[in-house]
Amino acid sequence: MSSSVALRLPSIDGLLRHPACLPLAERYGREALLSGLRQLLDELRLSVLQGQLSAIEISPEVLAGRVGERLTQQQRSNVRRVFNLTGTVLHTNLGRALLPEEAIEAVQMAARYPLNLEFDLASGKRGDRDDLIEGLIRELTGAEAVTVVNNNAAAVLLTLNSLGARKEGIISRGELIEIGGAFRIPDIMARAGVRLHEVGTTNRTHARDYEAAISPRSGLIMRVHASNYSIEGFTARVPTAELAELAHRHGLPLLEDLGSGSLLDLTRWGLPAEPTVRQALLDGADIVTFSGDKLLGGPQAGLIVGRRDLIAKIKKNPLKRALRVDKLTLAALEAVLGLYRDPDRLAERLPSLRLLTRPQAEIFAQASRLQPAMAEVLGEPWQVSAVQALGMIGSGSQPVARLPSAALCLRPQVSKRLRGRFLLNLEAALRGLPIPVLGRIDDDALWLDLRQLDDEPAWLAQLPQLQVES
Ligand SMILES: *Cc1c(COP(=O)(O)O)cnc(C)c1O
Repeated sequence: MSSSVALRLPSIDGLLRHPACLPLAERYGREALLSGLRQLLDELRLSVLQGQLSAIEISPEVLAGRVGERLTQQQRSNVRRVFNLTGTVLHTNLGRALLPEEAIEAVQMAARYPLNLEFDLASGKRGDRDDLIEGLIRELTGAEAVTVVNNNAAAVLLTLNSLGARKEGIISRGELIEIGGAFRIPDIMARAGVRLHEVGTTNRTHARDYEAAISPRSGLIMRVHASNYSIEGFTARVPTAELAELAHRHGLPLLEDLGSGSLLDLTRWGLPAEPTVRQALLDGADIVTFSGDKLLGGPQAGLIVGRRDLIAKIKKNPLKRALRVDKLTLAALEAVLGLYRDPDRLAERLPSLRLLTRPQAEIFAQASRLQPAMAEVLGEPWQVSAVQALGMIGSGSQPVARLPSAALCLRPQVSKRLRGRFLLNLEAALRGLPIPVLGRIDDDALWLDLRQLDDEPAWLAQLPQLQVES
Protein backbone atom coordinates (compact mmCIF):
# COMPACT_ATOMS: atom_id res chain seq x y z
CA MET A 1 0.00 0.00 0.00
CA SER A 2 1.41 3.38 -0.86
CA SER A 3 -0.01 6.79 -0.19
CA SER A 4 0.80 9.98 -1.97
CA VAL A 5 1.14 11.86 1.33
CA ALA A 6 4.06 10.57 3.40
CA LEU A 7 3.20 9.88 7.02
CA ARG A 8 5.05 11.75 9.73
CA LEU A 9 6.70 9.90 12.57
CA PRO A 10 5.80 11.09 16.07
CA SER A 11 8.49 13.17 17.79
CA ILE A 12 10.78 11.65 20.40
CA ASP A 13 9.69 14.21 22.98
CA GLY A 14 6.06 13.52 22.33
CA LEU A 15 6.65 9.79 22.66
CA LEU A 16 8.60 10.13 25.90
CA ARG A 17 5.65 12.01 27.44
CA HIS A 18 3.01 9.69 25.98
CA PRO A 19 1.09 7.60 28.57
CA ALA A 20 1.96 4.41 26.68
CA CYS A 21 5.69 5.07 27.20
CA LEU A 22 5.62 6.24 30.80
CA PRO A 23 5.55 2.73 32.34
CA LEU A 24 8.54 1.82 30.14
CA ALA A 25 10.54 4.76 31.45
CA GLU A 26 9.64 3.72 34.97
CA ARG A 27 10.69 0.13 34.36
CA TYR A 28 13.82 0.41 32.23
CA GLY A 29 14.96 3.98 32.89
CA ARG A 30 14.68 7.08 30.69
CA GLU A 31 18.06 6.56 29.01
CA ALA A 32 17.28 3.05 27.82
CA LEU A 33 13.84 4.08 26.60
CA LEU A 34 15.25 7.06 24.74
CA SER A 35 17.86 5.05 22.91
CA GLY A 36 15.32 2.34 22.12
CA LEU A 37 12.92 4.88 20.63
CA ARG A 38 15.67 6.56 18.62
CA GLN A 39 16.76 3.25 17.16
CA LEU A 40 13.23 2.26 16.26
CA LEU A 41 12.40 5.61 14.65
CA ASP A 42 15.63 5.53 12.64
CA GLU A 43 14.70 2.13 11.32
CA LEU A 44 11.20 3.26 10.41
CA ARG A 45 12.18 6.53 8.76
CA LEU A 46 12.93 5.10 5.36
CA SER A 47 9.73 3.06 5.20
CA VAL A 48 7.73 6.11 6.15
CA LEU A 49 9.33 8.17 3.41
CA GLN A 50 8.51 5.47 0.93
CA GLY A 51 4.96 5.46 2.22
CA GLN A 52 5.15 1.77 3.10
CA LEU A 53 3.69 2.10 6.59
CA SER A 54 0.12 2.73 7.65
CA ALA A 55 -0.85 5.26 10.31
CA ILE A 56 -1.62 2.56 12.86
CA GLU A 57 1.90 1.15 12.59
CA ILE A 58 3.41 4.40 13.77
CA SER A 59 0.86 5.24 16.43
CA PRO A 60 2.48 5.94 19.82
CA GLU A 61 0.79 2.86 21.32
CA VAL A 62 2.19 0.50 18.70
CA LEU A 63 5.65 2.08 18.86
CA ALA A 64 5.62 1.82 22.65
CA GLY A 65 4.72 -1.85 22.35
CA ARG A 66 7.60 -2.52 19.97
CA VAL A 67 10.12 -0.64 22.09
CA GLY A 68 8.83 -2.47 25.16
CA GLU A 69 9.49 -5.83 23.50
CA ARG A 70 13.02 -4.80 22.60
CA LEU A 71 13.79 -3.51 26.07
CA THR A 72 12.54 -6.75 27.62
CA GLN A 73 14.81 -8.70 25.25
CA GLN A 74 17.79 -6.52 26.09
CA GLN A 75 17.16 -6.74 29.81
CA ARG A 76 16.93 -10.50 29.79
CA SER A 77 19.99 -12.10 31.26
CA ASN A 78 22.25 -14.10 28.95
CA VAL A 79 22.52 -16.76 31.60
CA ARG A 80 19.24 -18.64 31.25
CA ARG A 81 17.67 -21.53 33.02
CA VAL A 82 16.80 -24.41 30.66
CA PHE A 83 15.08 -27.77 30.88
CA ASN A 84 17.70 -30.45 30.23
CA LEU A 85 15.66 -33.22 28.62
CA THR A 86 18.58 -34.48 26.54
CA GLY A 87 18.92 -37.69 28.55
CA THR A 88 22.46 -36.77 29.58
CA VAL A 89 22.37 -36.00 33.27
CA LEU A 90 25.77 -34.40 33.91
CA HIS A 91 25.75 -32.35 30.70
CA THR A 92 28.93 -30.28 30.40
CA ASN A 93 27.29 -27.71 28.08
CA LEU A 94 24.35 -27.35 30.45
CA GLY A 95 26.29 -26.79 33.64
CA ARG A 96 26.78 -30.36 34.93
CA ALA A 97 25.70 -31.05 38.53
CA LEU A 98 22.84 -29.19 40.22
CA LEU A 99 23.61 -28.12 43.75
CA PRO A 100 21.67 -29.29 46.80
CA GLU A 101 19.78 -26.74 48.92
CA GLU A 102 22.47 -26.91 51.60
CA ALA A 103 25.07 -25.74 49.08
CA ILE A 104 22.81 -23.03 47.66
CA GLU A 105 22.36 -21.64 51.17
CA ALA A 106 26.09 -21.77 51.78
CA VAL A 107 26.73 -19.90 48.51
CA GLN A 108 24.23 -17.21 49.49
CA MET A 109 25.86 -16.78 52.87
CA ALA A 110 29.31 -16.54 51.30
CA ALA A 111 28.07 -14.05 48.74
CA ARG A 112 26.33 -11.84 51.26
CA TYR A 113 28.72 -11.62 54.20
CA PRO A 114 32.43 -11.41 54.94
CA LEU A 115 33.78 -14.83 55.89
CA ASN A 116 36.85 -16.60 57.26
CA LEU A 117 38.15 -17.52 53.80
CA GLU A 118 41.80 -17.23 54.75
CA PHE A 119 41.54 -16.47 58.42
CA ASP A 120 41.95 -18.93 61.27
CA LEU A 121 39.29 -18.02 63.81
CA ALA A 122 40.93 -20.12 66.54
CA SER A 123 44.32 -18.45 66.46
CA GLY A 124 43.30 -15.13 64.94
CA LYS A 125 46.07 -15.58 62.36
CA ARG A 126 46.08 -15.79 58.61
CA GLY A 127 44.67 -19.09 57.36
CA ASP A 128 44.70 -21.15 54.16
CA ARG A 129 41.51 -21.52 52.12
CA ASP A 130 42.15 -25.23 51.59
CA ASP A 131 41.82 -25.72 55.37
CA LEU A 132 38.08 -25.09 55.07
CA ILE A 133 37.51 -28.41 53.33
CA GLU A 134 40.66 -30.40 54.05
CA GLY A 135 39.25 -32.22 57.09
CA LEU A 136 36.14 -33.40 55.25
CA ILE A 137 38.01 -34.56 52.17
CA ARG A 138 40.54 -36.45 54.25
CA GLU A 139 37.74 -38.14 56.13
CA LEU A 140 35.89 -39.08 52.93
CA THR A 141 38.89 -40.27 50.91
CA GLY A 142 41.50 -41.34 53.44
CA ALA A 143 43.98 -38.90 51.87
CA GLU A 144 46.80 -37.38 53.94
CA ALA A 145 46.40 -33.93 52.42
CA VAL A 146 44.30 -31.96 49.98
CA THR A 147 44.29 -28.90 47.77
CA VAL A 148 41.51 -27.54 45.57
CA VAL A 149 41.69 -25.64 42.28
CA ASN A 150 39.30 -24.28 39.66
CA ASN A 151 38.55 -27.55 37.83
CA ASN A 152 40.07 -30.94 37.19
CA ALA A 153 41.90 -29.75 34.08
CA ALA A 154 43.65 -27.23 36.33
CA ALA A 155 44.30 -29.97 38.89
CA VAL A 156 46.05 -32.11 36.27
CA LEU A 157 48.06 -29.18 34.90
CA LEU A 158 49.17 -28.02 38.34
CA THR A 159 50.07 -31.51 39.55
CA LEU A 160 52.08 -32.35 36.44
CA ASN A 161 53.92 -29.04 36.53
CA SER A 162 54.67 -29.27 40.24
CA LEU A 163 55.95 -32.84 40.22
CA GLY A 164 57.27 -33.45 36.72
CA ALA A 165 58.54 -30.24 35.09
CA ARG A 166 61.66 -30.76 32.97
CA LYS A 167 61.38 -34.51 33.52
CA GLU A 168 59.63 -37.33 31.72
CA GLY A 169 56.09 -38.40 32.46
CA ILE A 170 55.47 -42.05 31.63
CA ILE A 171 51.98 -42.90 30.43
CA SER A 172 50.28 -45.70 28.51
CA ARG A 173 49.33 -45.04 24.87
CA GLY A 174 45.83 -46.25 25.75
CA GLU A 175 45.42 -43.31 28.12
CA LEU A 176 46.48 -40.42 25.86
CA ILE A 177 42.94 -39.18 25.65
CA GLU A 178 41.09 -36.06 24.58
CA ILE A 179 38.36 -35.06 26.98
CA GLY A 180 36.55 -32.46 24.91
CA GLY A 181 36.94 -28.70 24.83
CA ALA A 182 40.46 -29.39 23.49
CA PHE A 183 41.75 -30.86 26.74
CA ARG A 184 44.25 -33.46 25.52
CA ILE A 185 46.61 -35.24 27.83
CA PRO A 186 49.69 -34.88 25.57
CA ASP A 187 49.05 -31.13 25.17
CA ILE A 188 48.45 -30.56 28.86
CA MET A 189 51.67 -32.46 29.63
CA ALA A 190 53.60 -30.28 27.22
CA ARG A 191 52.12 -27.10 28.72
CA ALA A 192 53.02 -28.39 32.18
CA GLY A 193 56.62 -28.74 31.03
CA VAL A 194 56.58 -32.52 31.33
CA ARG A 195 58.14 -34.55 28.51
CA LEU A 196 55.73 -37.22 27.36
CA HIS A 197 57.13 -40.74 27.39
CA GLU A 198 54.42 -42.96 25.99
CA VAL A 199 54.58 -46.70 26.48
CA GLY A 200 52.71 -49.81 25.36
CA THR A 201 50.02 -49.76 22.72
CA THR A 202 46.48 -48.43 22.43
CA ASN A 203 44.86 -51.63 23.61
CA ARG A 204 47.56 -53.32 25.68
CA THR A 205 50.17 -51.96 28.05
CA HIS A 206 52.15 -54.18 30.43
CA ALA A 207 54.20 -53.59 33.58
CA ARG A 208 57.35 -54.36 31.60
CA ASP A 209 56.54 -51.47 29.21
CA TYR A 210 56.53 -49.01 32.08
CA GLU A 211 59.63 -50.58 33.61
CA ALA A 212 61.61 -50.33 30.37
CA ALA A 213 60.81 -46.61 30.15
CA ILE A 214 62.15 -45.73 33.59
CA SER A 215 65.46 -43.84 33.54
CA PRO A 216 67.19 -41.06 35.47
CA ARG A 217 65.14 -38.62 33.35
CA SER A 218 61.85 -39.98 34.67
CA GLY A 219 59.80 -37.71 36.92
CA LEU A 220 56.53 -39.53 37.40
CA ILE A 221 54.17 -42.21 36.14
CA MET A 222 50.71 -41.07 35.17
CA ARG A 223 47.49 -42.98 34.83
CA VAL A 224 44.39 -41.42 33.29
CA HIS A 225 40.93 -42.85 33.68
CA ALA A 226 39.78 -43.24 30.06
CA SER A 227 36.53 -41.57 30.97
CA ASN A 228 34.88 -40.89 27.65
CA TYR A 229 35.77 -43.94 25.63
CA SER A 230 36.18 -47.61 26.23
CA ILE A 231 38.44 -50.22 24.71
CA GLU A 232 37.01 -53.67 24.54
CA GLY A 233 38.30 -57.01 23.38
CA PHE A 234 42.00 -57.88 23.45
CA THR A 235 43.13 -55.47 26.16
CA ALA A 236 45.60 -55.34 29.04
CA ARG A 237 46.15 -52.72 31.66
CA VAL A 238 48.36 -52.83 34.72
CA PRO A 239 46.31 -52.69 37.93
CA THR A 240 46.91 -49.51 39.93
CA ALA A 241 48.35 -51.45 42.90
CA GLU A 242 50.96 -53.11 40.69
CA LEU A 243 51.80 -49.86 38.91
CA ALA A 244 52.18 -48.07 42.25
CA GLU A 245 54.53 -50.77 43.52
CA LEU A 246 56.61 -50.44 40.37
CA ALA A 247 56.71 -46.63 40.60
CA HIS A 248 57.70 -46.68 44.25
CA ARG A 249 60.44 -49.26 43.65
CA HIS A 250 62.02 -46.66 41.37
CA GLY A 251 61.29 -43.72 43.66
CA LEU A 252 58.68 -42.20 41.32
CA PRO A 253 55.26 -40.84 42.26
CA LEU A 254 52.16 -42.31 40.61
CA LEU A 255 49.50 -39.77 39.60
CA GLU A 256 46.03 -40.96 38.85
CA ASP A 257 43.61 -38.65 37.04
CA LEU A 258 40.27 -40.20 37.89
CA GLY A 259 38.20 -37.63 36.03
CA SER A 260 34.83 -38.16 37.61
CA GLY A 261 36.16 -39.72 40.76
CA SER A 262 33.35 -40.98 42.87
CA LEU A 263 33.61 -40.77 46.65
CA LEU A 264 31.35 -43.77 47.21
CA ASP A 265 30.72 -47.06 45.45
CA LEU A 266 27.83 -46.22 43.11
CA THR A 267 26.75 -49.84 42.69
CA ARG A 268 25.10 -49.43 46.08
CA TRP A 269 22.47 -47.40 44.19
CA GLY A 270 22.35 -49.72 41.21
CA LEU A 271 24.57 -47.46 39.09
CA PRO A 272 27.55 -48.68 37.02
CA ALA A 273 30.76 -49.08 39.02
CA GLU A 274 33.17 -46.13 38.91
CA PRO A 275 36.57 -46.22 40.59
CA THR A 276 36.49 -44.45 43.95
CA VAL A 277 39.08 -41.97 45.15
CA ARG A 278 39.60 -43.93 48.35
CA GLN A 279 40.34 -47.13 46.43
CA ALA A 280 42.84 -45.39 44.13
CA LEU A 281 44.70 -44.10 47.19
CA LEU A 282 44.52 -47.50 48.92
CA ASP A 283 45.95 -49.06 45.77
CA GLY A 284 48.93 -46.78 46.16
CA ALA A 285 48.37 -43.79 43.88
CA ASP A 286 50.37 -40.94 45.41
CA ILE A 287 48.17 -38.18 44.00
CA VAL A 288 44.60 -38.50 42.73
CA THR A 289 42.82 -35.72 40.84
CA PHE A 290 39.07 -35.48 40.15
CA SER A 291 36.26 -33.04 39.34
CA GLY A 292 33.87 -31.45 41.81
CA ASP A 293 30.93 -31.17 39.41
CA LYS A 294 30.82 -34.60 37.83
CA LEU A 295 29.73 -37.61 39.90
CA LEU A 296 30.60 -35.81 43.12
CA GLY A 297 27.59 -33.58 42.43
CA GLY A 298 29.09 -30.30 43.62
CA PRO A 299 30.38 -27.04 42.15
CA GLN A 300 33.00 -26.81 39.41
CA ALA A 301 36.31 -27.56 41.12
CA GLY A 302 39.37 -29.76 40.79
CA LEU A 303 40.38 -31.76 43.83
CA ILE A 304 43.95 -32.89 44.34
CA VAL A 305 44.41 -35.39 47.15
CA GLY A 306 47.21 -37.63 48.33
CA ARG A 307 50.65 -37.67 49.95
CA ARG A 308 51.34 -34.79 52.30
CA ASP A 309 54.83 -33.98 50.97
CA LEU A 310 53.63 -33.91 47.37
CA ILE A 311 50.59 -31.77 48.18
CA ALA A 312 52.91 -29.35 49.99
CA LYS A 313 55.02 -29.10 46.85
CA ILE A 314 51.92 -28.53 44.71
CA LYS A 315 50.70 -25.78 47.03
CA LYS A 316 54.03 -23.98 46.76
CA ASN A 317 53.79 -23.75 42.96
CA PRO A 318 52.99 -20.14 41.94
CA LEU A 319 50.48 -21.57 39.45
CA LYS A 320 48.36 -22.62 42.44
CA ARG A 321 47.58 -18.96 43.06
CA ALA A 322 46.45 -18.55 39.47
CA LEU A 323 44.22 -21.61 39.59
CA ARG A 324 42.71 -21.29 43.04
CA VAL A 325 38.98 -21.54 43.77
CA ASP A 326 36.82 -18.69 44.96
CA LYS A 327 34.82 -18.42 48.15
CA LEU A 328 31.47 -19.34 46.56
CA THR A 329 32.91 -22.61 45.27
CA LEU A 330 34.45 -23.49 48.60
CA ALA A 331 31.23 -22.76 50.44
CA ALA A 332 29.26 -24.99 48.05
CA LEU A 333 31.88 -27.73 48.10
CA GLU A 334 31.95 -27.94 51.87
CA ALA A 335 28.16 -28.22 52.01
CA VAL A 336 28.10 -30.96 49.35
CA LEU A 337 30.90 -32.94 51.02
CA GLY A 338 29.03 -32.67 54.30
CA LEU A 339 26.14 -34.64 52.78
CA TYR A 340 28.48 -37.55 52.04
CA ARG A 341 28.85 -38.13 55.79
CA ASP A 342 25.39 -39.65 55.70
CA PRO A 343 25.40 -41.96 52.67
CA ASP A 344 22.01 -43.44 53.61
CA ARG A 345 20.29 -40.17 52.82
CA LEU A 346 22.60 -39.02 50.03
CA ALA A 347 20.31 -40.13 47.19
CA GLU A 348 17.50 -37.98 48.60
CA ARG A 349 19.62 -34.93 49.28
CA LEU A 350 22.10 -34.72 46.41
CA PRO A 351 20.24 -33.73 43.22
CA SER A 352 22.61 -35.43 40.77
CA LEU A 353 22.39 -38.74 42.62
CA ARG A 354 18.63 -38.39 43.05
CA LEU A 355 18.24 -37.82 39.29
CA LEU A 356 20.65 -40.59 38.35
CA THR A 357 18.76 -43.08 40.51
CA ARG A 358 15.19 -42.15 39.53
CA PRO A 359 13.44 -45.44 38.72
CA GLN A 360 12.45 -45.96 35.11
CA ALA A 361 8.87 -46.83 36.13
CA GLU A 362 8.48 -43.44 37.80
CA ILE A 363 9.81 -41.60 34.74
CA PHE A 364 7.58 -43.64 32.47
CA ALA A 365 4.53 -42.77 34.58
CA GLN A 366 5.48 -39.11 34.24
CA ALA A 367 5.79 -39.45 30.46
CA SER A 368 2.35 -41.08 30.27
CA ARG A 369 0.90 -38.32 32.42
CA LEU A 370 2.30 -35.56 30.20
CA GLN A 371 1.62 -37.21 26.85
CA PRO A 372 -1.94 -35.84 26.36
CA ALA A 373 -0.90 -32.22 27.05
CA MET A 374 1.99 -32.46 24.60
CA ALA A 375 -0.14 -34.15 21.95
CA GLU A 376 -2.78 -31.47 22.26
CA VAL A 377 -0.33 -28.58 21.93
CA LEU A 378 1.41 -30.09 18.90
CA GLY A 379 -1.69 -31.37 17.11
CA GLU A 380 -1.37 -32.56 13.52
CA PRO A 381 0.90 -33.95 12.12
CA TRP A 382 2.72 -35.01 15.26
CA GLN A 383 2.53 -38.40 16.88
CA VAL A 384 3.34 -38.09 20.57
CA SER A 385 4.06 -41.20 22.60
CA ALA A 386 5.40 -42.10 26.02
CA VAL A 387 8.23 -44.56 25.47
CA GLN A 388 11.16 -46.19 27.21
CA ALA A 389 14.48 -44.54 26.42
CA LEU A 390 18.15 -44.84 27.27
CA GLY A 391 20.01 -41.92 28.81
CA MET A 392 23.54 -41.55 30.05
CA ILE A 393 25.42 -40.20 33.03
CA GLY A 394 27.50 -37.75 30.98
CA SER A 395 30.70 -35.82 31.67
CA GLY A 396 32.76 -38.79 30.61
CA SER A 397 31.47 -41.11 33.29
CA GLN A 398 30.67 -44.54 31.95
CA PRO A 399 30.50 -43.68 28.23
CA VAL A 400 29.10 -47.07 27.35
CA ALA A 401 26.67 -47.57 30.20
CA ARG A 402 23.08 -46.50 29.59
CA LEU A 403 20.51 -45.35 32.14
CA PRO A 404 17.09 -46.92 31.54
CA SER A 405 14.75 -43.96 31.33
CA ALA A 406 11.55 -42.79 29.63
CA ALA A 407 10.73 -40.04 27.18
CA LEU A 408 8.10 -38.27 25.19
CA CYS A 409 8.85 -39.26 21.62
CA LEU A 410 7.64 -36.63 19.12
CA ARG A 411 7.42 -37.99 15.59
CA PRO A 412 6.24 -35.98 12.57
CA GLN A 413 3.84 -37.98 10.40
CA VAL A 414 5.03 -36.44 7.16
CA SER A 415 6.93 -37.62 4.12
CA LYS A 416 10.55 -38.59 4.65
CA ARG A 417 11.62 -35.54 2.65
CA LEU A 418 9.96 -33.13 5.12
CA ARG A 419 10.81 -34.88 8.37
CA GLY A 420 14.17 -33.23 8.93
CA ARG A 421 12.75 -29.74 8.56
CA PHE A 422 9.80 -30.49 10.87
CA LEU A 423 12.13 -31.81 13.53
CA LEU A 424 14.47 -28.83 13.33
CA ASN A 425 11.52 -26.42 13.50
CA LEU A 426 10.14 -28.16 16.56
CA GLU A 427 13.56 -28.19 18.17
CA ALA A 428 13.87 -24.43 17.55
CA ALA A 429 10.38 -23.76 18.91
CA LEU A 430 11.16 -25.66 22.11
CA ARG A 431 14.37 -23.67 22.43
CA GLY A 432 12.38 -20.48 21.98
CA LEU A 433 10.15 -21.05 25.02
CA PRO A 434 10.63 -18.73 28.04
CA ILE A 435 12.47 -21.60 29.75
CA PRO A 436 14.09 -23.27 26.72
CA VAL A 437 13.45 -27.02 26.49
CA LEU A 438 16.36 -29.06 25.14
CA GLY A 439 15.81 -32.56 23.85
CA ARG A 440 17.59 -34.67 21.26
CA ILE A 441 16.84 -35.71 17.70
CA ASP A 442 17.39 -39.35 16.92
CA ASP A 443 15.81 -41.88 14.58
CA ASP A 444 13.49 -39.35 12.85
CA ALA A 445 11.98 -38.18 16.14
CA LEU A 446 12.57 -35.59 18.83
CA TRP A 447 13.02 -37.17 22.24
CA LEU A 448 12.35 -35.43 25.53
CA ASP A 449 13.92 -37.63 28.19
CA LEU A 450 12.02 -36.86 31.39
CA ARG A 451 14.54 -38.14 33.93
CA GLN A 452 15.42 -34.54 34.77
CA LEU A 453 11.98 -32.97 34.57
CA ASP A 454 11.62 -31.92 38.19
CA ASP A 455 9.57 -28.80 37.77
CA GLU A 456 6.57 -30.22 35.94
CA PRO A 457 4.25 -27.24 36.67
CA ALA A 458 6.65 -24.73 35.08
CA TRP A 459 7.11 -27.00 32.08
CA LEU A 460 3.37 -27.45 31.57
CA ALA A 461 2.58 -23.79 32.15
CA GLN A 462 4.66 -22.60 29.22
CA LEU A 463 3.62 -25.36 26.82
CA PRO A 464 0.68 -23.41 25.29
CA GLN A 465 3.21 -20.80 24.11
CA LEU A 466 4.88 -23.32 21.81
CA GLN A 467 4.72 -22.10 18.22
CA VAL A 468 6.12 -24.45 15.64
CA GLU A 469 6.79 -23.12 12.16
CA SER A 470 5.92 -25.55 9.41
C1 LIG B 1 36.49 -34.48 32.92
C2 LIG B 1 37.90 -34.89 33.00
C3 LIG B 1 38.92 -33.94 33.14
C4 LIG B 1 38.62 -32.46 33.15
O1 LIG B 1 37.90 -32.14 34.29
P1 LIG B 1 37.17 -30.70 34.38
O2 LIG B 1 36.66 -30.67 35.80
O3 LIG B 1 36.10 -30.71 33.36
O4 LIG B 1 38.20 -29.67 34.12
C5 LIG B 1 40.21 -34.38 33.23
N1 LIG B 1 40.50 -35.69 33.18
C6 LIG B 1 39.55 -36.65 33.06
C7 LIG B 1 39.94 -38.08 33.02
C8 LIG B 1 38.21 -36.28 32.96
O5 LIG B 1 37.26 -37.20 32.83
